[in-house]
Amino acid sequence: MPAPRPAPADHLHITPEPQIHATPKRLDAAPARHDATPTRLDRIPPATPTPRDRLATLRLISGIPLHSLRKTARTMRYRLHFLHLIPAALLLAPAAEAAESPKKGEPALTAQTMRSGGERPPEQRSVRFDSADLQFELLPDRYRLNGIATLNFTATAPVSRLVIDLDRNLPVSALAIDGRTLPRSAYANREGQLTVTLPRPLRAGEKVTARITYGGTPHVAVNAPWDDGVVWSKIPDGKLWFATTAEGYGCDLFWPCLDFPEGEPGVVDLHITVPAGLKAPSNGRLIGVDTLADGRTRWNWRTRNPNTYALALNVGPYEEVSGSYKSRYGNTIPMHYWYLPGERAKAEKLFAEFAPTLDFFESVVGPYPFGDEKLGVVETPHKGMEHQTINAYGNDYAKAIEGFDWLFQHEFTHEWFANQLTAANWDDYWLHEGYGSYMQPAYGEWREGRARYAAMMNGQRGTIQNKVPIVQGRVVTEEEVYEADKGGAGQDIYVKGSWMLHTLRYLIGDTDFWNVTRLAVYGRTDPRPGNFRPRFGSSKEYEGFVRQVTGHDYGWFFDVYLRQAALPDLTMTRTGNRVDLAWTVPGGGAFPMPVEVSVDGKVQTIAMPNGRGSIGNVPAGAHVVLDPDARILRRSEAVEEMQRWQAEQRAKRPPRK
Ligand SMILES: [Zn+2]
Repeated sequence: MPAPRPAPADHLHITPEPQIHATPKRLDAAPARHDATPTRLDRIPPATPTPRDRLATLRLISGIPLHSLRKTARTMRYRLHFLHLIPAALLLAPAAEAAESPKKGEPALTAQTMRSGGERPPEQRSVRFDSADLQFELLPDRYRLNGIATLNFTATAPVSRLVIDLDRNLPVSALAIDGRTLPRSAYANREGQLTVTLPRPLRAGEKVTARITYGGTPHVAVNAPWDDGVVWSKIPDGKLWFATTAEGYGCDLFWPCLDFPEGEPGVVDLHITVPAGLKAPSNGRLIGVDTLADGRTRWNWRTRNPNTYALALNVGPYEEVSGSYKSRYGNTIPMHYWYLPGERAKAEKLFAEFAPTLDFFESVVGPYPFGDEKLGVVETPHKGMEHQTINAYGNDYAKAIEGFDWLFQHEFTHEWFANQLTAANWDDYWLHEGYGSYMQPAYGEWREGRARYAAMMNGQRGTIQNKVPIVQGRVVTEEEVYEADKGGAGQDIYVKGSWMLHTLRYLIGDTDFWNVTRLAVYGRTDPRPGNFRPRFGSSKEYEGFVRQVTGHDYGWFFDVYLRQAALPDLTMTRTGNRVDLAWTVPGGGAFPMPVEVSVDGKVQTIAMPNGRGSIGNVPAGAHVVLDPDARILRRSEAVEEMQRWQAEQRAKRPPRK
């Protein structure tokens, strides 16, 4: 996600200029059909509609009021019998529907739903999430989301219950295990974890399929993407502009999932039904778009190994610019950008950044991890988020001195550092955001050279807080990392992480640094399309890669930068013709970080075994500058004083409403 921004004004999304009257591009010219035949195909053939899909389609055209069906079923006491005959999505509508948008933050979430990651129950540790088929039906007139999720798990240990995360604002109306509908008594969702007693316990290696029918009023984000939920927005002509974010509170905000980083399903099929005239760009490859009899469209996507919070619903009257990129690795990568009507010129300029940015990453890091799916970006009514292959973009086409859009570039970075390499525990999310932030200066350097790099690094330096260590050494939730008031390092996982990487690159050199980076991202130094899969990593593993590549143990480096709050402090003492340097580090351990020193403009590198070093023959009047190229993240009294002054200024201002 984008780095937290201290000024509230930066959180505001500026509404696109009100010249939006261009007719949205037609989805396709195919007439409405009564079957579910896709009207547009990608490279792989559409899945044959299952009997369930056909039935659902037929029900959608039947015109029977949904709540009357439900009431009938209840009155006749044939509920369970009836349920398996009726497409469950149609049984969900409660008698009273919200006609007005729920307010921000409503309906309220349980503490369990707001948690993402952290320690998980043994039932969740005992299953592998093989695949998911997720049907969504968005009903904006009622601010409602219905879903049917078919989840396939393999037991990795004996297990008698499934524990699946799902916001209880989306109540479950039917649940089947391996095709058999369970009685209500077999499942419950009290606090946001759906607990299902299996008809029979599973042994390790056995598979199970859970089909969950659910729906309701999804939680509305207060300030996406810094908190999460759905965003009901409109473009000036009144058409719907809808988005979801889930990094903080997790995937369980709108689909039943395993809400911790390692809960990634292997393959996900998405089927997103939206009002006529709107589009639903989403993750992975477009399998096809079905036109339903009532004019609505169903967008079918397939993606593999999505990060749990990376699945996203985006709905709007989008127009699209697309093209393809011929990779240096021989493959061709489809590129798509979905933007709001009336913004074509701006959209094309942003789209023009896609190929050179891709070239940078493929040159410096390695192959785009999802080249067999797409590079996708969609304009959203919130700032941005690393939604795998459908990155959210809400930076209003801002122009900057660097000459590229930092938000697009930052979220795109996460395809490598978040979606391909995923930290298994939120505690190690500097791997996402530290790299995610470092790659903007690295791209500045790639484009324009060292001065741009230095200027961009300097921009980050003044925001490092050093109040809490980046890594806490335990299993934590997302908020325990991102939220300073919950004890997290907050934006230090971005900027301090970035500066740590900058320092590491100096310490071990460019070649080793990028080889370590490749090992962390792909698990190998020779990645090519097809020879790697998305992987999980950790800080400890990263340290191991540094040791493997360099042949040296840099534990002293990571112990200070990751596991201590305060920065190493370099002091200089001049005695006669002698300059003595000494590192003081929190924790008091070794810190043999070599230091460049300029003496009257001549730079030499001083080895610092045991954290100490000296230079002789320095005339008393010589001008000495330590670390003249600012290669090392170290304590700066100037930064500390500036931050104190800034805090005083903030305290003087009247509180913003
Ligand atoms: Zn980010």
